[in-house]
Amino acid sequence: MSLAKQCKFFGHIITIEKALAIRDAAQAKERKTLAFECVKCGKAVRPHNSGDRCAAHFVHLSRNPECIFIDPPRDC
Ligand SMILES: [Zn+2]
Repeated sequence: MSLAKQCKFFGHIITIEKALAIRDAAQAKERKTLAFECVKCGKAVRPHNSGDRCAAHFVHLSRNPECIFIDPPRDC
């Protein structure tokens, strides 16, 4: 069990830092259309900025308990 630090974006593996940069560069209305996918389960994920208690990571848009990548609490 671990936090996801990479995702798949248009067939390429990219880092969380890259994904955050892509998201931040996108217009607000474009952000929903950014197709970040979990490298393990292939489901849609979104990049999450680092917080007080954890480093930047990806979370599944819909929680996926079957995936090895965990989705930490929302206040993380
Ligand atoms: Zn996954």
